[in-house]
Amino acid sequence: MVGGGPLTNPRQCVACRGPRTDGADTFYMTCGAAECLHAVITNPEKPRCSGCGCLLRDSELDEGACESVACKVVALNLRIEQEKRALQKWTDDLVAKEVRAHAERHELSPEAIYVVVVEGSEGEIAPYSPARRSRFIAQLQSEAKKAEPILLEYRASGKSAAQSESEDIQIPSPHPTSERQMLLDRRSLDVCGACRGGCCHRHGGDHGFVRSERLAQTSYTTHQTLAESVRDYVAHLPEYSCKSGCVFQSSSGCSLPRTKRADICNNFICGGLRRMRAQLQGREDCTILVVAVRGFEHLHSTLLSSPDDLHVA
Ligand code: SF4
Ligand code: SF4
Ligand SMILES: [Zn+2]
Ligand SMILES: [Zn+2]
Repeated sequence: MVGGGPLTNPRQCVACRGPRTDGADTFYMTCGAAECLHAVITNPEKPRCSGCGCLLRDSELDEGACESVACKVVALNLRIEQEKRALQKWTDDLVAKEVRAHAERHELSPEAIYVVVVEGSEGEIAPYSPARRSRFIAQLQSEAKKAEPILLEYRASGKSAAQSESEDIQIPSPHPTSERQMLLDRRSLDVCGACRGGCCHRHGGDHGFVRSERLAQTSYTTHQTLAESVRDYVAHLPEYSCKSGCVFQSSSGCSLPRTKRADICNNFICGGLRRMRAQLQGREDCTILVVAVRGFEHLHSTLLSSPDDLHVA
């Protein structure tokens, strides 16, 4: 490459990094010194800084930038962009391959398959360590303390139990009563089942989102004391759970009943699912292929050929 990419420092010699003077060698973007010219002419393939275009030293090759902070930012953004493009290409290729394979296996037209790509979960399922269990109980007890005034407030305001429960189990939708919308909600739950709780794996941690507000709501609607609610949540811990995911994430999904899950668990919709809900309007009953990935890793794919009919690959 002749010259540089002078985005961040156009007045710098690309070889010695000293200042260039007006009229000095503009073609090669050096200061005009013989050794700088020589360095540029004899190293046409030497990697350049992504920001200012100067010749990189060996220690700078990995980063792709010289010591300038502005150049490091340019190089970092470039790497992020390249990685995004590479991931998109890898995902597109994977989706095309999976659609072909599933269409062939189930004698379907590839065009008839709607694809949802999700960041899935395939964490290791293992028995609880006593430390994890104790951590969960301790933090639940601390949330129960915070829940006392909230519960008192609920009881004083007489919030209806039915209202609390119905709020918990709805995926928000613009037309909650239409049949199509109900079908879309059902399909969404199927997709989450096929995904195996990617969001639970990423965000559930040792708390499962059981915060003070949730404990107060549960105690209020079930007429339990907070201590009883705490015991109830502990009793719902599965024997085996996803080691690096949520405490309630078992091999068969969430071990909590929907009414005991936090609002965020009942209402969260990831990007892939949100897109599906927008794009499937009018063809809610079509065949859906859920492709679960994590980074450049293909975790699993599941064909949902009808609301009740699953074919797992
Ligand atoms: S919202 Fe559903 S589909 Fe999306 S990551 Fe969570 S479980 Fe998977
Ligand atoms: S409580 Fe259940 S739904 Fe909520 S993050 Fe944990 S496993 Fe997922
Ligand atoms: Zn120079
Ligand atoms: Zn630079």
